[in-house]
Amino acid sequence: MPSLGSRHDVVVVGAGPAGLTAATTLRTAGLDVVCVEARDRFGGRLASIDGYDLGATWFWDGEQRVAELVAQLGVPAFEQHRTGDAIMQDRTGIRRITGNPIDAPAYRFESGAHALAAGLAARLPEAALRLSTPVTRIRLVSEMVQIDTPSGTLRAAQVVLAVPPALAVARIDFSGDLGPDLIRLAEATPVWMGAIAKVVAGYRTPFWRTRELAGAAISHTGPLRETHDMSGPHGGRAALFGFAAAGALGHGFAASVTSQLARLFGPEAAEPTTLHVQDWSAEQWTSPAGVGNLTDYRLLGHPRYRQPALAGRLHWASTETAADYAGHIEGALYAGRQAATAVLTAHAGAAEAKIG
Ligand SMILES: Cc1cc2nc3c(=O)[nH]c(=O)nc-3n(C[C@H](O)[C@H](O)[C@H](O)COP(=O)(O)OP(=O)(O)OC[C@H]3O[C@@H](n4cnc5c(N)ncnc54)[C@H](O)[C@@H]3O)c2cc1C
Repeated sequence: MPSLGSRHDVVVVGAGPAGLTAATTLRTAGLDVVCVEARDRFGGRLASIDGYDLGATWFWDGEQRVAELVAQLGVPAFEQHRTGDAIMQDRTGIRRITGNPIDAPAYRFESGAHALAAGLAARLPEAALRLSTPVTRIRLVSEMVQIDTPSGTLRAAQVVLAVPPALAVARIDFSGDLGPDLIRLAEATPVWMGAIAKVVAGYRTPFWRTRELAGAAISHTGPLRETHDMSGPHGGRAALFGFAAAGALGHGFAASVTSQLARLFGPEAAEPTTLHVQDWSAEQWTSPAGVGNLTDYRLLGHPRYRQPALAGRLHWASTETAADYAGHIEGALYAGRQAATAVLTAHAGAAEAKIG
């Protein structure tokens, strides 16, 4: 039986960009905050290996919160390479399209999107970020929220749930305290890119650029539905990446990918120096079972997620709950700040009630 452990103003569940934003905002406001993270790393769907992004890659014009954070943290960013022609492939064959209608203007993080999470995490003291600490149960006990993890129990006046709603209700026992309507909404809310596999193929040089190809392709025949250039600045760390439906994975997947890339970009593409395949549907701390069946994207940012649950003590914060830019990093930052504001309002209200 875990002991009734430490008491805090706020416990934030999940150290992706939403949870880290909420935790850092609340800490700056002077609250005692602990952020608990299931994985042995922070960042969530911001996951980079050797500078290659296996989760989020881009941000776009108009995404003010990301742009501001990039500037504040001093995270170097650069423009997505788009120069050159694009490729279209369907059953009738492969066509070269003059220009690149596939890649919208976008920006990337020089050393990978994880740098954004690292910058946020660095604002928290070590003791405020607990890795390898999955939350298994959340319930109201004597006007506090009790948060159970395998390594002990935490108690807090407020909790921020910065985990995709469908995953939260699959992995965390709320002892019926959320109510059936909210549970049904959460169970049906898609996990952004949760049913997708991302494939990154590294090469010695960005050879497609010398043929005036952008690295952008749409394909209706191979496992990759679309590809883009994922090289570093000035073509260093050359790479192409693509998305596949997680259902396409299985025996022979890597060989199908490299032969598809060779058909699209030439024989050099058949022999990448590295090939990363990241199946997000198989990540137990991103996607619940059956994530591919969650397709009602109208539920993203549902107004119900802006109402606190558990007698006003639980605030939703993952990108899926954001009223704007839901799904994107921008949405995660938006939702994290919104939850922090709701916590601060509740905290101020409780302090006033005490004085009164
Ligand atoms: C392949 C892919 C490509 C993408 N491309 C882009 C892009 O180009 N641009 C863009 O803007 N966005 C993109 N996204 C989306 C972007 O990654 C998300 O919007 C963002 O990461 C969401 O942040 P979050 O904090 O809401 O959730 P997450 O990043 O998923 O973080 C949630 C955290 O909660 C933790 N957690 C889960 N359950 C528990 C538990 N029970 N207890 C404790 N911790 C728990 C998880 O381990 C995780 O660290 C992409 C996503 C994927 C998968």
